[in-house]
Amino acid sequence: MSKADLHLHTSRSDGVLSPYQVVNLASKRKLAAIALTDHDTVEGIPEALRAGEEFGIRVVPGIEINTSADNGELHILGYYIDHTNAVFTSSLKELKRARMRRILNIIEKLNRLGLDITREQVLSRAGKADTIGRPHIARVLLDRGFVSSVKEAFERYIGHGRPAYVERYKLMPREAIALIESSGGVPVLAHPGVLSSVSYIDLCIEEGIQGIEAFHSKHDPGQADAFVEIARRNNLIVTGGSDCHGELKFDGDLLMGRFTVDIKAVDSLKEIADNNKEALKPVKVR
Ligand code: AMP
Ligand code: FE
Ligand code: FE
Ligand code: ZN
Repeated sequence: MSKADLHLHTSRSDGVLSPYQVVNLASKRKLAAIALTDHDTVEGIPEALRAGEEFGIRVVPGIEINTSADNGELHILGYYIDHTNAVFTSSLKELKRARMRRILNIIEKLNRLGLDITREQVLSRAGKADTIGRPHIARVLLDRGFVSSVKEAFERYIGHGRPAYVERYKLMPREAIALIESSGGVPVLAHPGVLSSVSYIDLCIEEGIQGIEAFHSKHDPGQADAFVEIARRNNLIVTGGSDCHGELKFDGDLLMGRFTVDIKAVDSLKEIADNNKEALKPVKVR
C-alpha cells in the first residue's frame, strides 16, 4: 500500500525539523505523500514543495488552524489551500499578531510567578518559526531548568487552567473553516479524539468540514474505527497523519509515518479542492 502521512509540523511553527528535512525523512521512510500542516502558517510550503520534487514525493500544501473552541483544543486542518492567496495570507498575519500578544502575556504571568524568562529567550528558541507557540515557551522553561520536560511545563504552568495560561484569541471553528474555504482548501477536523465532547464533531459537521482525521497518534484503534464510521455516515473524507513535531518519541524513534492513510485520500482531497476552487471563481458574464 502507498501511504501518506497528512499531519506534519516543521520548524516554521512548533516542529523541530525544517521543511526540507521533513520531506527528506519522509522519502527515507518510503512515504508516497505527506502534507505539511504547520499551525497558522504557510511559510514552510514553498521549501517543502521544492524538496518534494527533489525526492519524488507528493507534498500537499496544508495548514492546521487552532481555534478557541474546547479550550483551544479544536483544530481544523486545511488541505490544498492556495498558500499564495493574498486575502488568506493577510488573515494569517492577523493571527500571528494575536499569537505574539498571547505569548507576551504568558511570559508576563510566568515572571510574576517568579520564573525569570524573557521575550528574547523565547524568540531565540523559536528560531525560524513564523508561528510562536507555547511549546517554545516550554522549551525555554526546560533549558532554564524550571521544569524537567515540556510536558511538565504544560501541566504545571502553561496548560489550560494552569497559573500562566492565557486564553486563546477568538477564532471560532466556523471562521477557521471559512478561512480555509476562502483559499479553495478542504477543511478537515483534526484529531477528534482529543476533544472533550463528541458534540464538537457534530458542530464541525454543521459548520461545513469536508473530512475527519480518523488516524492519528493520539487515537487508539477503536477510536479510529469510530471516526471512520462517522465520516462514512456523513459522507466525509477520511484522513490520517502522525502529527509528528520532529521530537523523538516511541523509544527514540520519530512518529512520522506511523499513522497514515492510503494515498487514494490524497487524490480525493485534490479533487475536492479543485471543485472548491472552481466554485470560488467569479462567473463570467458575456
Ligand atoms: P499554542 O498553539 O501556543 O496554543 O500551543 C499548542 C501546541 O502545544 C499544540 O499544538 C501542541 O504541539 C503543544 N501542546 C499542547 N499541550 C501539550 C502538552 N500537554 N504537552 C506537550 N505539548 C503540548
Ligand atoms: Fe503543535
Ligand atoms: Fe493539532
Ligand atoms: Zn498538529
